[in-house]
Amino acid sequence: MILSNDFSRQWEDTEKDAVAAFIATGKSGWYILGGELQRFEEALAAYWSFPFAAGVASGLDAIELSLRALGCKAGDRVLTTPVSAFATTLAILKIGAVPVFSDVDACGLIDLDEAYNVASRGDIHYFVPVHLYGHALERHKLARFREDLGTNIVEDCAQSIGARSHGLPTGSVGQMAATSFYPTKNLGAMGDGGAILTRDHPCLLRIRMLRDYGQRTKYNHEIIGYNSRLDELQAALLRAVYLPRLTRWLQRRTGIADRYSAEIRNPAVQLIGMPAGSDSSWHLFPILISPTRKGCFLEHMKSRMVSASEHYPIAIPDQTAMAGVSFEIVPNGIESARTFCKSQVSLPIHPYLNDAEVSQVIETVNRWTG
Ligand SMILES: *Cc1c(COP(=O)(O)O)cnc(C)c1O
Repeated sequence: MILSNDFSRQWEDTEKDAVAAFIATGKSGWYILGGELQRFEEALAAYWSFPFAAGVASGLDAIELSLRALGCKAGDRVLTTPVSAFATTLAILKIGAVPVFSDVDACGLIDLDEAYNVASRGDIHYFVPVHLYGHALERHKLARFREDLGTNIVEDCAQSIGARSHGLPTGSVGQMAATSFYPTKNLGAMGDGGAILTRDHPCLLRIRMLRDYGQRTKYNHEIIGYNSRLDELQAALLRAVYLPRLTRWLQRRTGIADRYSAEIRNPAVQLIGMPAGSDSSWHLFPILISPTRKGCFLEHMKSRMVSASEHYPIAIPDQTAMAGVSFEIVPNGIESARTFCKSQVSLPIHPYLNDAEVSQVIETVNRWTG
């Protein structure tokens, strides 16, 4: 079976370094908020061209703590996309804030022109855009929200480590960039983890308090915080094992994406574009299949031993859990998002796929009769 992610191959490649990192952390005798975290935060910030990074427990927490650090509170309206991992919206809901869903464009990413019109109405103070699939939203368009409207922006970069818009890393426009080290992500840990990147030192200090029970110094609790810390072991693995491989992994993802883009030729399969100036991190390789034929396509792939998955099959406001919470859909609706969700399929694109397997994925897609 050609898998969406192949962690046994990753382990084979990383075992020696991972065991060394484990031993070093064990011997240090310090397991939470220590030197490993600090060294990883410095390395991540340098990689991403930010002055500051703060490790937290997950991508979900990275978004929630970022919003909290910017002052977001219950009842505030937060503009976001209906097509993303549920965590993007969950972070908003956990604060008691009200998500406002604006529709997506043909790439499946939030339509920034439409979103700008929505934000212009004046009652929206926060925006959580998502660089979905690793495709970078146009930074000039994002910048208008801050410059013209004063909207606070937390960029959801959980899928976009390494992606650039017109030459600059995603996350560069907002006050905060939130990312995830969930194992399947481009930079994944051996468990849960996340980080916030920022240029704003006061915000960094608030994040450090929020992740550690709201204390500035030991037993001085200034605000109501969380327990959301990236542990030393994950930090050591990320810094010593995974981050040094990231550039090579991203190159491999791009190489696979280039082959898919050039060699997939099937009138029943539609490739997806991306915003102008986007240099994608290719977290996923999305395609579109007619909603009535998607089940058939997924069956075809599975029966030929190629995994294909969906990101994401249901628009967030249509999820069962949303029935009990307060949210808003913009007057123009989210029909593009709904159609997109019904059509979207992801092909395998992890860095340990070999060339023969990439060829096999292409052949299997091209042989589908639609
Ligand atoms: C994975 C993901 C998250 C959540 O990250 P976790 O570490 O799983 O909490 C948020 N947003 C997007 C776009 C994601 O892909």
